[in-house]
Amino acid sequence: MEDHVKNLSKLIGHDKVYVDPATIKLYSKNAVYYEGNALAIVFPESTEDVSKIVRYAYENDLKIYPQGSASEIVGSSTPKDDGIVMSFVRMRKIKDVSYIDSYVVCEPGVRLVELNNYLKGSGYMFPIDPASIKSATVGGAINSGSGGMMGAKYGTMKDWVLGLEVVLPNEEGSVLRLGGKTTKNREGYDLIRLIVGSEGTLALVTEAILRITLAPEEVVTVAGFFNDLEDLMRCVINIKESKLDILIMEFVDDVTTKITIDTIKPRVSGSGHLLITSVSTVKEAAQRVLDKLIDIYNRNNSSNIVSARSMEEAEALGIFDIRRNLYPATIKIASSSLEVDEEKPYIFVEDISVPPSRLVEAVKRLRNISEKYGFPMTLGGHVGDGNLHPVVWIREGDREKMDQFNNFVMDIMKMAVELDGVISSEHGIGMVKKDGLIMSYRRRNSLYALKLMREIKRIFDPKSILNPDKMLPSDVY
Ligand SMILES: Cc1cc2nc3c(=O)[nH]c(=O)nc-3n(C[C@H](O)[C@H](O)[C@H](O)COP(=O)(O)OP(=O)(O)OC[C@H]3O[C@@H](n4cnc5c(N)ncnc54)[C@H](O)[C@@H]3O)c2cc1C
Repeated sequence: MEDHVKNLSKLIGHDKVYVDPATIKLYSKNAVYYEGNALAIVFPESTEDVSKIVRYAYENDLKIYPQGSASEIVGSSTPKDDGIVMSFVRMRKIKDVSYIDSYVVCEPGVRLVELNNYLKGSGYMFPIDPASIKSATVGGAINSGSGGMMGAKYGTMKDWVLGLEVVLPNEEGSVLRLGGKTTKNREGYDLIRLIVGSEGTLALVTEAILRITLAPEEVVTVAGFFNDLEDLMRCVINIKESKLDILIMEFVDDVTTKITIDTIKPRVSGSGHLLITSVSTVKEAAQRVLDKLIDIYNRNNSSNIVSARSMEEAEALGIFDIRRNLYPATIKIASSSLEVDEEKPYIFVEDISVPPSRLVEAVKRLRNISEKYGFPMTLGGHVGDGNLHPVVWIREGDREKMDQFNNFVMDIMKMAVELDGVISSEHGIGMVKKDGLIMSYRRRNSLYALKLMREIKRIFDPKSILNPDKMLPSDVY
Protein backbone atom coordinates (compact mmCIF):
# COMPACT_ATOMS: atom_id res chain seq x y z
CA MET A 1 0.00 0.00 0.00
CA GLU A 2 2.87 2.38 0.70
CA ASP A 3 3.59 2.55 -3.02
CA HIS A 4 -0.02 3.40 -3.82
CA VAL A 5 -0.03 6.20 -1.28
CA LYS A 6 3.23 7.60 -2.65
CA ASN A 7 2.00 7.39 -6.21
CA LEU A 8 -1.41 8.86 -5.48
CA SER A 9 0.18 11.68 -3.47
CA LYS A 10 2.46 12.43 -6.40
CA LEU A 11 -0.51 12.46 -8.76
CA ILE A 12 -2.91 14.73 -6.85
CA GLY A 13 -0.88 16.18 -3.94
CA HIS A 14 0.15 15.00 -0.46
CA ASP A 15 -2.55 16.96 1.32
CA LYS A 16 -5.26 15.00 -0.50
CA VAL A 17 -4.24 11.47 0.55
CA TYR A 18 -4.64 10.30 4.18
CA VAL A 19 -3.59 7.03 5.78
CA ASP A 20 -3.53 7.85 9.48
CA PRO A 21 -5.69 5.41 11.52
CA ALA A 22 -8.03 8.09 12.88
CA THR A 23 -8.99 9.37 9.42
CA ILE A 24 -9.29 5.85 8.06
CA LYS A 25 -11.59 4.84 10.93
CA LEU A 26 -13.72 7.96 10.53
CA TYR A 27 -14.27 7.48 6.80
CA SER A 28 -14.68 3.70 6.90
CA LYS A 29 -18.08 3.59 8.58
CA ASN A 30 -21.61 4.61 7.69
CA ALA A 31 -24.32 6.23 9.80
CA VAL A 32 -25.61 3.09 11.49
CA TYR A 33 -23.63 -0.07 11.78
CA TYR A 34 -21.44 -0.91 8.84
CA GLU A 35 -17.69 -0.55 9.19
CA GLY A 36 -14.84 -1.34 6.85
CA ASN A 37 -11.16 -0.60 6.77
CA ALA A 38 -10.01 1.37 3.74
CA LEU A 39 -6.37 1.40 2.66
CA ALA A 40 -6.42 5.18 2.32
CA ILE A 41 -8.82 8.11 2.06
CA VAL A 42 -8.47 10.47 -0.90
CA PHE A 43 -9.99 13.94 -1.06
CA PRO A 44 -10.16 15.11 -4.70
CA GLU A 45 -10.72 18.81 -5.23
CA SER A 46 -11.55 18.78 -8.95
CA THR A 47 -12.85 16.59 -11.77
CA GLU A 48 -9.27 16.29 -12.97
CA ASP A 49 -8.19 14.89 -9.59
CA VAL A 50 -11.01 12.34 -9.78
CA SER A 51 -10.04 11.29 -13.29
CA LYS A 52 -6.36 10.91 -12.31
CA ILE A 53 -7.25 8.74 -9.32
CA VAL A 54 -9.52 6.57 -11.47
CA ARG A 55 -6.82 6.04 -14.11
CA TYR A 56 -4.38 4.99 -11.41
CA ALA A 57 -6.91 2.71 -9.71
CA TYR A 58 -7.83 1.08 -13.00
CA GLU A 59 -4.22 0.37 -13.87
CA ASN A 60 -3.47 -1.01 -10.41
CA ASP A 61 -6.73 -2.88 -9.70
CA LEU A 62 -7.43 -0.68 -6.72
CA LYS A 63 -11.09 -0.47 -5.67
CA ILE A 64 -12.73 2.94 -5.18
CA TYR A 65 -15.51 3.50 -2.62
CA PRO A 66 -17.17 6.88 -3.28
CA GLN A 67 -18.51 8.79 -0.30
CA GLY A 68 -20.42 11.98 0.48
CA SER A 69 -21.19 12.19 4.20
CA ALA A 70 -21.63 8.42 4.68
CA SER A 71 -25.08 9.04 6.16
CA GLU A 72 -26.52 6.12 4.20
CA ILE A 73 -27.93 3.27 6.25
CA VAL A 74 -27.59 0.19 4.03
CA GLY A 75 -23.81 -0.18 3.75
CA SER A 76 -23.63 1.37 0.27
CA SER A 77 -20.65 3.62 1.06
CA THR A 78 -18.65 1.34 3.36
CA PRO A 79 -15.22 0.29 2.04
CA LYS A 80 -13.44 -3.03 2.25
CA ASP A 81 -9.72 -3.38 2.78
CA ASP A 82 -9.07 -3.76 -0.95
CA GLY A 83 -9.43 -0.11 -1.82
CA ILE A 84 -9.63 3.57 -1.09
CA VAL A 85 -12.47 5.80 -0.01
CA MET A 86 -12.96 8.74 -2.36
CA SER A 87 -14.55 11.45 -0.25
CA PHE A 88 -16.16 14.39 -2.04
CA VAL A 89 -16.27 16.68 1.00
CA ARG A 90 -13.80 19.13 -0.58
CA MET A 91 -15.80 19.53 -3.79
CA ARG A 92 -18.50 21.81 -2.44
CA LYS A 93 -18.81 24.82 -4.73
CA ILE A 94 -22.16 26.11 -5.90
CA LYS A 95 -21.15 27.29 -9.36
CA ASP A 96 -24.19 28.79 -11.02
CA VAL A 97 -27.88 29.45 -10.47
CA SER A 98 -30.64 30.63 -12.81
CA TYR A 99 -34.07 31.61 -11.54
CA ILE A 100 -35.27 32.19 -15.10
CA ASP A 101 -34.33 28.66 -16.17
CA SER A 102 -34.84 27.10 -12.70
CA TYR A 103 -31.58 25.30 -12.15
CA VAL A 104 -28.54 25.31 -9.90
CA VAL A 105 -25.12 23.90 -10.82
CA CYS A 106 -23.02 22.50 -8.01
CA GLU A 107 -20.28 20.11 -7.00
CA PRO A 108 -21.15 16.77 -5.37
CA GLY A 109 -19.95 17.62 -1.86
CA VAL A 110 -22.47 20.45 -1.36
CA ARG A 111 -24.88 19.50 1.40
CA LEU A 112 -28.60 19.73 0.67
CA VAL A 113 -29.06 22.14 3.58
CA GLU A 114 -26.35 24.42 2.11
CA LEU A 115 -28.16 24.38 -1.21
CA ASN A 116 -31.35 25.58 0.41
CA ASN A 117 -29.53 28.16 2.52
CA TYR A 118 -28.02 29.48 -0.70
CA LEU A 119 -31.47 29.72 -2.32
CA LYS A 120 -33.07 31.33 0.75
CA GLY A 121 -34.56 34.70 -0.02
CA SER A 122 -34.91 33.97 -3.74
CA GLY A 123 -38.35 32.37 -3.38
CA TYR A 124 -36.91 29.13 -4.77
CA MET A 125 -35.96 25.89 -3.08
CA PHE A 126 -34.55 22.45 -3.78
CA PRO A 127 -37.37 20.19 -2.58
CA ILE A 128 -35.66 16.90 -1.71
CA ASP A 129 -35.52 16.94 2.08
CA PRO A 130 -34.28 13.72 3.69
CA ALA A 131 -34.36 13.79 7.48
CA SER A 132 -30.56 13.78 7.15
CA ILE A 133 -30.66 17.03 5.11
CA LYS A 134 -27.97 18.66 7.29
CA SER A 135 -25.38 16.02 6.33
CA ALA A 136 -26.62 14.52 3.03
CA THR A 137 -24.58 15.71 0.05
CA VAL A 138 -25.74 16.25 -3.52
CA GLY A 139 -23.55 13.37 -4.79
CA GLY A 140 -24.75 11.01 -2.06
CA ALA A 141 -28.41 11.96 -2.50
CA ILE A 142 -28.16 11.48 -6.28
CA ASN A 143 -26.54 8.08 -5.91
CA SER A 144 -28.98 6.98 -3.20
CA GLY A 145 -31.99 8.28 -5.15
CA SER A 146 -33.01 10.00 -1.92
CA GLY A 147 -36.42 11.29 -0.99
CA GLY A 148 -37.91 12.86 2.09
CA MET A 149 -40.96 14.23 3.81
CA MET A 150 -42.16 16.12 0.73
CA GLY A 151 -41.99 13.02 -1.48
CA ALA A 152 -45.76 12.88 -2.06
CA LYS A 153 -45.56 16.20 -3.91
CA TYR A 154 -42.00 16.34 -5.22
CA GLY A 155 -40.96 12.70 -5.71
CA THR A 156 -37.31 11.76 -5.24
CA MET A 157 -33.91 12.79 -6.61
CA LYS A 158 -34.64 11.10 -9.94
CA ASP A 159 -37.14 13.86 -10.67
CA TRP A 160 -34.74 16.73 -10.04
CA VAL A 161 -31.50 15.99 -11.88
CA LEU A 162 -31.23 17.76 -15.25
CA GLY A 163 -27.59 17.14 -15.96
CA LEU A 164 -24.52 15.37 -14.64
CA GLU A 165 -20.79 15.46 -15.14
CA VAL A 166 -19.38 12.03 -14.33
CA VAL A 167 -16.03 10.27 -14.41
CA LEU A 168 -16.24 6.69 -15.65
CA PRO A 169 -14.23 3.93 -13.95
CA ASN A 170 -12.40 2.99 -17.15
CA GLU A 171 -8.80 3.06 -18.39
CA GLU A 172 -9.01 6.73 -19.44
CA GLY A 173 -11.04 7.94 -16.45
CA SER A 174 -13.31 9.44 -19.12
CA VAL A 175 -15.31 12.53 -18.27
CA LEU A 176 -18.89 12.57 -19.62
CA ARG A 177 -21.34 15.45 -19.59
CA LEU A 178 -24.92 14.19 -19.67
CA GLY A 179 -28.12 16.22 -19.99
CA GLY A 180 -28.05 20.00 -19.57
CA LYS A 181 -29.99 22.99 -18.38
CA THR A 182 -33.36 22.20 -19.93
CA THR A 183 -36.25 20.33 -18.36
CA LYS A 184 -37.00 18.55 -21.62
CA ASN A 185 -34.37 16.23 -23.00
CA ARG A 186 -34.79 13.31 -25.41
CA GLU A 187 -31.20 12.68 -26.40
CA GLY A 188 -31.15 8.88 -26.55
CA TYR A 189 -31.30 6.54 -23.56
CA ASP A 190 -31.67 8.32 -20.23
CA LEU A 191 -28.25 7.70 -18.71
CA ILE A 192 -28.88 10.28 -16.01
CA ARG A 193 -31.75 8.24 -14.55
CA LEU A 194 -29.57 5.16 -14.73
CA ILE A 195 -26.92 6.84 -12.60
CA VAL A 196 -29.40 8.35 -10.12
CA GLY A 197 -29.87 5.65 -7.46
CA SER A 198 -26.95 3.55 -8.73
CA GLU A 199 -25.29 3.69 -5.27
CA GLY A 200 -21.87 4.66 -6.57
CA THR A 201 -21.55 1.53 -8.68
CA LEU A 202 -21.52 3.04 -12.18
CA ALA A 203 -19.81 6.43 -12.23
CA LEU A 204 -18.36 9.16 -10.05
CA VAL A 205 -20.52 12.28 -10.02
CA THR A 206 -18.34 15.40 -10.16
CA GLU A 207 -20.97 18.03 -10.98
CA ALA A 208 -24.76 18.21 -11.05
CA ILE A 209 -27.32 20.48 -12.65
CA LEU A 210 -30.37 20.32 -10.39
CA ARG A 211 -33.85 21.63 -11.06
CA ILE A 212 -35.16 24.07 -8.47
CA THR A 213 -38.75 25.12 -7.83
CA LEU A 214 -40.72 27.95 -6.25
CA ALA A 215 -41.10 27.53 -2.50
CA PRO A 216 -44.76 27.56 -1.35
CA GLU A 217 -45.90 31.02 -0.30
CA GLU A 218 -47.52 29.65 2.86
CA VAL A 219 -47.72 26.23 4.51
CA VAL A 220 -50.44 25.29 6.97
CA THR A 221 -50.09 22.21 9.18
CA VAL A 222 -52.40 20.05 11.29
CA ALA A 223 -51.44 17.20 13.60
CA GLY A 224 -53.88 14.90 15.36
CA PHE A 225 -54.13 11.50 17.04
CA PHE A 226 -56.42 8.59 16.04
CA ASN A 227 -57.39 5.56 18.11
CA ASP A 228 -58.41 3.69 15.03
CA LEU A 229 -56.08 3.16 12.05
CA GLU A 230 -59.07 3.00 9.69
CA ASP A 231 -60.16 6.50 10.87
CA LEU A 232 -56.68 7.80 10.13
CA MET A 233 -56.70 6.30 6.66
CA ARG A 234 -60.15 7.68 5.93
CA CYS A 235 -58.82 11.08 7.01
CA VAL A 236 -55.94 10.66 4.52
CA ILE A 237 -58.37 9.74 1.74
CA ASN A 238 -60.68 12.67 2.57
CA ILE A 239 -57.74 15.08 2.49
CA LYS A 240 -56.66 13.70 -0.88
CA GLU A 241 -60.24 13.92 -2.20
CA SER A 242 -60.53 17.53 -1.06
CA LYS A 243 -57.86 18.43 -3.65
CA LEU A 244 -55.70 20.30 -1.16
CA ASP A 245 -52.10 20.72 -2.31
CA ILE A 246 -50.49 18.21 0.09
CA LEU A 247 -46.86 18.96 0.84
CA ILE A 248 -46.20 16.66 3.80
CA MET A 249 -48.23 13.74 5.14
CA GLU A 250 -46.44 11.86 7.94
CA PHE A 251 -47.58 8.98 10.07
CA VAL A 252 -46.39 7.46 13.37
CA ASP A 253 -48.22 4.38 14.69
CA ASP A 254 -49.72 4.14 18.19
CA VAL A 255 -47.02 1.94 19.75
CA THR A 256 -44.30 4.25 18.45
CA THR A 257 -46.10 7.44 19.45
CA LYS A 258 -46.20 6.19 23.03
CA ILE A 259 -42.54 5.12 23.00
CA THR A 260 -41.43 8.46 21.51
CA ILE A 261 -43.55 10.55 23.88
CA ASP A 262 -42.24 8.61 26.91
CA THR A 263 -38.65 8.93 25.69
CA ILE A 264 -38.33 12.51 24.44
CA LYS A 265 -41.28 14.33 26.07
CA PRO A 266 -42.29 16.30 22.96
CA ARG A 267 -44.30 19.51 23.10
CA VAL A 268 -47.23 17.92 21.20
CA SER A 269 -48.71 14.95 23.00
CA GLY A 270 -51.63 12.52 22.77
CA SER A 271 -52.38 8.85 22.38
CA GLY A 272 -53.05 6.71 19.33
CA HIS A 273 -51.72 6.90 15.77
CA LEU A 274 -50.36 10.32 14.76
CA LEU A 275 -51.04 11.99 11.40
CA ILE A 276 -49.32 15.25 10.44
CA THR A 277 -50.44 17.02 7.27
CA SER A 278 -48.93 20.15 5.72
CA VAL A 279 -50.62 21.84 2.79
CA SER A 280 -49.15 24.56 0.62
CA THR A 281 -51.28 27.58 -0.14
CA VAL A 282 -51.17 31.35 -0.60
CA LYS A 283 -51.28 33.76 2.34
CA GLU A 284 -54.82 34.97 1.63
CA ALA A 285 -56.25 31.43 1.64
CA ALA A 286 -54.26 30.09 4.61
CA GLN A 287 -57.01 30.31 7.26
CA ARG A 288 -59.66 28.85 4.94
CA VAL A 289 -57.41 25.90 4.01
CA LEU A 290 -56.48 25.36 7.66
CA ASP A 291 -60.16 25.30 8.73
CA LYS A 292 -60.95 22.79 6.00
CA LEU A 293 -58.09 20.55 7.12
CA ILE A 294 -59.10 20.73 10.80
CA ASP A 295 -62.68 19.89 9.83
CA ILE A 296 -61.53 16.74 8.00
CA TYR A 297 -59.50 15.65 11.05
CA ASN A 298 -62.52 16.26 13.33
CA ARG A 299 -64.89 14.37 11.07
CA ASN A 300 -62.60 11.35 11.33
CA ASN A 301 -62.53 11.26 15.15
CA SER A 302 -59.09 12.77 15.66
CA SER A 303 -58.12 13.97 19.14
CA ASN A 304 -55.58 16.45 20.54
CA ILE A 305 -55.51 18.38 17.26
CA VAL A 306 -52.80 21.03 16.96
CA SER A 307 -52.64 23.44 14.03
CA ALA A 308 -50.30 26.09 12.63
CA ARG A 309 -50.83 28.81 9.99
CA SER A 310 -47.19 28.86 8.92
CA MET A 311 -44.11 26.64 9.00
CA GLU A 312 -42.54 28.97 11.58
CA GLU A 313 -45.55 28.51 13.84
CA ALA A 314 -45.47 24.72 13.29
CA GLU A 315 -41.82 24.67 14.36
CA ALA A 316 -42.53 26.91 17.36
CA LEU A 317 -45.30 24.55 18.48
CA GLY A 318 -43.14 21.46 17.98
CA ILE A 319 -45.64 19.81 15.63
CA PHE A 320 -42.97 17.67 13.98
CA ASP A 321 -41.20 16.71 17.24
CA ILE A 322 -42.57 13.16 17.47
CA ARG A 323 -41.96 12.31 13.80
CA ARG A 324 -38.46 13.82 13.72
CA ASN A 325 -37.42 12.18 16.98
CA LEU A 326 -38.63 8.73 16.07
CA TYR A 327 -35.14 7.57 15.07
CA PRO A 328 -33.23 9.21 17.97
CA ALA A 329 -35.84 7.84 20.38
CA THR A 330 -35.38 4.38 18.89
CA ILE A 331 -31.61 4.62 19.31
CA LYS A 332 -32.10 5.64 22.94
CA ILE A 333 -34.37 2.70 23.67
CA ALA A 334 -32.16 0.31 21.73
CA SER A 335 -29.08 1.45 23.65
CA SER A 336 -30.83 1.19 27.00
CA SER A 337 -31.74 -2.43 26.20
CA LEU A 338 -28.06 -3.43 26.11
CA GLU A 339 -26.77 -5.70 28.84
CA VAL A 340 -23.05 -5.16 28.36
CA ASP A 341 -21.38 -1.73 28.08
CA GLU A 342 -19.21 -2.48 25.04
CA GLU A 343 -22.07 -3.98 23.10
CA LYS A 344 -23.72 -1.93 20.36
CA PRO A 345 -27.27 -2.43 19.17
CA TYR A 346 -27.89 -3.57 15.62
CA ILE A 347 -30.42 -1.04 14.34
CA PHE A 348 -32.14 -1.54 11.03
CA VAL A 349 -34.37 0.98 9.26
CA GLU A 350 -36.71 -0.67 6.77
CA ASP A 351 -37.78 1.28 3.71
CA ILE A 352 -40.68 -0.45 1.96
CA SER A 353 -43.42 1.30 -0.01
CA VAL A 354 -46.93 0.16 -0.76
CA PRO A 355 -49.63 2.00 -2.71
CA PRO A 356 -51.11 4.42 -0.12
CA SER A 357 -54.52 2.75 -0.42
CA ARG A 358 -52.99 -0.43 1.08
CA LEU A 359 -51.33 1.21 4.08
CA VAL A 360 -53.78 -0.06 6.71
CA GLU A 361 -53.16 -3.64 5.62
CA ALA A 362 -49.40 -3.03 5.54
CA VAL A 363 -49.29 -1.54 9.06
CA LYS A 364 -51.35 -4.40 10.52
CA ARG A 365 -49.20 -7.02 8.82
CA LEU A 366 -46.02 -5.30 9.99
CA ARG A 367 -47.19 -5.47 13.60
CA ASN A 368 -48.04 -9.16 13.14
CA ILE A 369 -44.58 -9.89 11.73
CA SER A 370 -42.96 -8.03 14.60
CA GLU A 371 -45.01 -10.07 17.10
CA LYS A 372 -44.31 -13.36 15.33
CA TYR A 373 -40.54 -12.88 15.71
CA GLY A 374 -40.71 -11.07 19.04
CA PHE A 375 -38.70 -8.13 17.66
CA PRO A 376 -39.43 -4.68 19.09
CA MET A 377 -40.31 -2.18 16.35
CA THR A 378 -41.02 1.50 15.97
CA LEU A 379 -42.99 2.52 12.92
CA GLY A 380 -43.44 5.74 11.02
CA GLY A 381 -43.44 6.84 7.45
CA HIS A 382 -44.49 9.06 4.64
CA VAL A 383 -48.17 8.18 4.35
CA GLY A 384 -48.62 10.52 1.38
CA ASP A 385 -46.55 8.28 -0.88
CA GLY A 386 -46.90 4.96 0.98
CA ASN A 387 -43.28 4.77 2.17
CA LEU A 388 -42.98 3.09 5.59
CA HIS A 389 -39.91 3.03 7.84
CA PRO A 390 -40.25 0.31 10.49
CA VAL A 391 -37.16 0.39 12.71
CA VAL A 392 -36.03 -2.71 14.59
CA TRP A 393 -33.19 -3.25 16.98
CA ILE A 394 -31.43 -6.29 18.36
CA ARG A 395 -28.68 -6.80 20.88
CA GLU A 396 -25.61 -7.90 18.94
CA GLY A 397 -25.01 -10.52 21.64
CA ASP A 398 -28.44 -12.09 21.14
CA ARG A 399 -27.31 -14.76 18.69
CA GLU A 400 -30.72 -16.39 18.47
CA LYS A 401 -32.37 -13.14 17.37
CA MET A 402 -29.50 -12.18 15.05
CA ASP A 403 -29.96 -15.57 13.31
CA GLN A 404 -33.65 -14.88 12.79
CA PHE A 405 -33.07 -11.37 11.53
CA ASN A 406 -32.77 -12.13 7.80
CA ASN A 407 -36.02 -14.12 7.82
CA PHE A 408 -37.72 -11.28 9.66
CA VAL A 409 -36.63 -8.66 7.10
CA MET A 410 -37.49 -11.02 4.24
CA ASP A 411 -41.05 -11.42 5.62
CA ILE A 412 -41.42 -7.63 5.63
CA MET A 413 -40.15 -7.31 2.07
CA LYS A 414 -42.39 -10.17 0.87
CA MET A 415 -45.38 -8.47 2.44
CA ALA A 416 -44.56 -5.23 0.57
CA VAL A 417 -44.29 -7.04 -2.76
CA GLU A 418 -47.56 -8.93 -2.10
CA LEU A 419 -49.28 -5.57 -1.65
CA ASP A 420 -47.90 -4.33 -5.01
CA GLY A 421 -45.14 -2.39 -3.30
CA VAL A 422 -41.35 -2.25 -3.43
CA ILE A 423 -38.60 -3.41 -1.07
CA SER A 424 -36.67 -0.14 -1.14
CA SER A 425 -38.00 3.36 -1.73
CA GLU A 426 -35.22 5.83 -0.92
CA HIS A 427 -32.46 4.18 1.12
CA GLY A 428 -31.25 1.70 -1.48
CA ILE A 429 -30.04 -1.89 -1.52
CA GLY A 430 -26.40 -1.58 -0.39
CA MET A 431 -25.19 -4.73 1.32
CA VAL A 432 -28.40 -5.52 3.20
CA LYS A 433 -31.16 -6.03 0.66
CA LYS A 434 -29.65 -8.06 -2.17
CA ASP A 435 -31.77 -11.11 -1.23
CA GLY A 436 -34.85 -8.90 -1.28
CA LEU A 437 -33.96 -7.68 -4.76
CA ILE A 438 -33.79 -11.26 -6.01
CA MET A 439 -37.08 -12.14 -4.29
CA SER A 440 -38.85 -9.10 -5.74
CA TYR A 441 -37.76 -9.73 -9.35
CA ARG A 442 -38.32 -13.49 -9.03
CA ARG A 443 -41.92 -12.92 -7.90
CA ARG A 444 -42.47 -10.83 -11.01
CA ASN A 445 -40.86 -13.49 -13.19
CA SER A 446 -38.31 -10.88 -14.18
CA LEU A 447 -34.95 -12.09 -12.89
CA TYR A 448 -33.53 -11.27 -16.29
CA ALA A 449 -33.70 -7.59 -15.23
CA LEU A 450 -30.91 -8.33 -12.74
CA LYS A 451 -28.82 -9.86 -15.50
CA LEU A 452 -29.33 -6.69 -17.54
CA MET A 453 -28.18 -4.62 -14.56
CA ARG A 454 -25.04 -6.76 -14.21
CA GLU A 455 -24.29 -6.23 -17.91
CA ILE A 456 -24.79 -2.49 -17.53
CA LYS A 457 -22.38 -2.50 -14.59
CA ARG A 458 -19.82 -4.38 -16.73
CA ILE A 459 -20.06 -1.81 -19.54
CA PHE A 460 -19.61 1.15 -17.19
CA ASP A 461 -17.04 -0.53 -14.99
CA PRO A 462 -15.23 -3.30 -16.90
CA LYS A 463 -12.82 -4.18 -14.09
CA SER A 464 -15.38 -3.73 -11.31
CA ILE A 465 -13.26 -1.22 -9.42
CA LEU A 466 -16.13 1.06 -8.40
CA ASN A 467 -17.98 0.16 -5.19
CA PRO A 468 -17.83 -3.56 -6.02
CA ASP A 469 -20.27 -5.99 -4.39
CA LYS A 470 -22.79 -3.28 -3.60
CA MET A 471 -26.41 -3.33 -4.70
CA LEU A 472 -26.28 -6.11 -7.30
CA PRO A 473 -26.43 -9.77 -6.27
CA SER A 474 -23.67 -11.73 -8.01
CA ASP A 475 -25.12 -14.93 -9.41
CA VAL A 476 -28.80 -15.72 -9.58
CA TYR A 477 -29.15 -16.73 -13.21
C1 LIG B 1 -31.01 9.92 10.66
C2 LIG B 1 -31.08 9.61 9.18
C3 LIG B 1 -32.20 9.98 8.48
C4 LIG B 1 -32.29 9.73 7.10
N1 LIG B 1 -33.40 10.12 6.44
C5 LIG B 1 -33.52 9.89 5.13
C6 LIG B 1 -34.70 10.29 4.42
O1 LIG B 1 -35.63 10.86 4.99
N2 LIG B 1 -34.76 10.02 3.10
C7 LIG B 1 -33.74 9.41 2.44
O2 LIG B 1 -33.84 9.20 1.23
N3 LIG B 1 -32.62 9.02 3.08
C8 LIG B 1 -32.47 9.25 4.40
N4 LIG B 1 -31.33 8.85 5.05
C9 LIG B 1 -30.26 8.15 4.31
C10 LIG B 1 -29.14 9.10 3.77
O3 LIG B 1 -28.92 10.14 4.67
C11 LIG B 1 -29.44 9.67 2.39
O4 LIG B 1 -29.46 8.62 1.46
C12 LIG B 1 -28.40 10.71 1.91
O5 LIG B 1 -28.88 11.34 0.75
C13 LIG B 1 -27.02 10.14 1.64
O6 LIG B 1 -26.14 11.23 1.40
P1 LIG B 1 -24.58 11.14 1.78
O7 LIG B 1 -23.92 12.37 1.29
O8 LIG B 1 -24.40 10.86 3.21
O9 LIG B 1 -24.12 9.92 0.89
P2 LIG B 1 -23.25 8.68 1.31
O10 LIG B 1 -23.92 7.98 2.43
O11 LIG B 1 -21.85 9.09 1.51
O12 LIG B 1 -23.33 7.80 -0.01
C14 LIG B 1 -24.53 7.28 -0.48
C15 LIG B 1 -24.25 6.50 -1.78
O13 LIG B 1 -23.80 7.40 -2.79
C16 LIG B 1 -22.50 7.05 -3.27
N5 LIG B 1 -21.82 8.32 -3.56
C17 LIG B 1 -21.66 9.38 -2.74
N6 LIG B 1 -21.13 10.42 -3.41
C18 LIG B 1 -20.92 10.00 -4.69
C19 LIG B 1 -20.40 10.61 -5.87
N7 LIG B 1 -20.00 11.89 -5.90
N8 LIG B 1 -20.31 9.86 -7.01
C20 LIG B 1 -20.72 8.56 -7.01
N9 LIG B 1 -21.25 7.96 -5.93
C21 LIG B 1 -21.34 8.67 -4.79
C22 LIG B 1 -21.90 6.20 -2.16
O14 LIG B 1 -20.94 5.30 -2.65
C23 LIG B 1 -23.14 5.47 -1.65
O15 LIG B 1 -23.44 4.39 -2.47
C24 LIG B 1 -31.22 9.08 6.44
C25 LIG B 1 -30.08 8.71 7.16
C26 LIG B 1 -30.01 8.97 8.51
C27 LIG B 1 -28.77 8.57 9.24
